[in-house]
Amino acid sequence: MRVVARIDELGAADLDRFHFLRDFPTDYFEARERFCESAKAIGAKLFRYPIAVDQSLSIDVATLDTNASRQRLVVSSGVHGVEGPLGSAIQLSMMRMLLQEELPSDLGYTLIHAVNPFGYAHHRRWNEENVDLNRNFKCSSNTYSGCPAGYKDFESVLNPRTAPSRLEPFRVKAFWNIALHGVQAIKEAVATGQYEFPQGLFYGGQAECFSSRVIRENLRNWLSESNEVVHLDVHTGLGRFADYRLLLEYPADAPAATWFRDLFGRPIVEDGGSHPTSYDARGTFGRWAMSHLASLDYRFATVEVGTHPIVRVLAALRAENRAHHYGTPRSDVEWARQELRECFCPASPKWRRKVLNDQLEVVQRCAQHLKQGIGNRSEAVGSC
Ligand SMILES: [Zn+2]
Repeated sequence: MRVVARIDELGAADLDRFHFLRDFPTDYFEARERFCESAKAIGAKLFRYPIAVDQSLSIDVATLDTNASRQRLVVSSGVHGVEGPLGSAIQLSMMRMLLQEELPSDLGYTLIHAVNPFGYAHHRRWNEENVDLNRNFKCSSNTYSGCPAGYKDFESVLNPRTAPSRLEPFRVKAFWNIALHGVQAIKEAVATGQYEFPQGLFYGGQAECFSSRVIRENLRNWLSESNEVVHLDVHTGLGRFADYRLLLEYPADAPAATWFRDLFGRPIVEDGGSHPTSYDARGTFGRWAMSHLASLDYRFATVEVGTHPIVRVLAALRAENRAHHYGTPRSDVEWARQELRECFCPASPKWRRKVLNDQLEVVQRCAQHLKQGIGNRSEAVGSC
């Protein structure tokens, strides 16, 4: 087995070099360099897809195949760029675990690093076109148009055409609206995706973006011969501080939902029938992937790791978006960028330690059960 052979070849000093993998990378470039270095160390194949507007930024993919890897674990990071550091830390730690034989070596692995490299590098949730990629994965029957009525009601409050100011009472207004309408109604009105305000929050674009196209054109190849696949797509910023949920976009009685629930139980697993944390977004990666790969047993879960309260996170997204579009060299907007980073990857060592440990346990448990074979094929999950 290739991984074991590689460990035999490495001396103690080499293994020491990989201790840094336990930590969160400080920025996109460091994350990518470590990702590629680690992928080479485990003997993975590497693929690179530079983005058109800046060739120094890229989606990077590592695939590790075994002789009979019918089962495969896929972990993707940075669909929402600024959320990338936790996903990177998980991927780097997984490669260290493979070197140390703490993950099964008879599975295939596909690690997709920085689905949104522009957002990761520039500490934005959105990509180079201000698009929320998790609203941009569309099947052919869908069009890039429309906007929830609730979003239109809030649009002028969400997207003022001015640089942000620390003195605005946005949080007070947001609390008032939540008290009036309920937090779920606000999430569904605001965050499910809109296709009419290109500079606004949660904009899904007018066409398929570069990242979505790269995924569409290559995902099948990155899976090699595997036909039983579990995919964890790592996100942060939604839910209670340092807590996590696995959000599924299929009904509670689908075999894949049962599989995840048997492993993690409720309330960790939120399926299509129970979603206190999630909301029914349009154009998501998960729904698209399961529809696109319907000939495989493809089980997708969005991992959501909680950070700060939702009103603070929303205020940070709003302020950073205004800073990006309307900030000038003279306007004081750096605070908005720093606040966004804190909201999606808190500096707290306690948060970092707990969430990374939790997610490595999730990965280990999925890998252990996956290698036994999924057994029964997942049923149709509906079109995206
Ligand atoms: Zn996200």
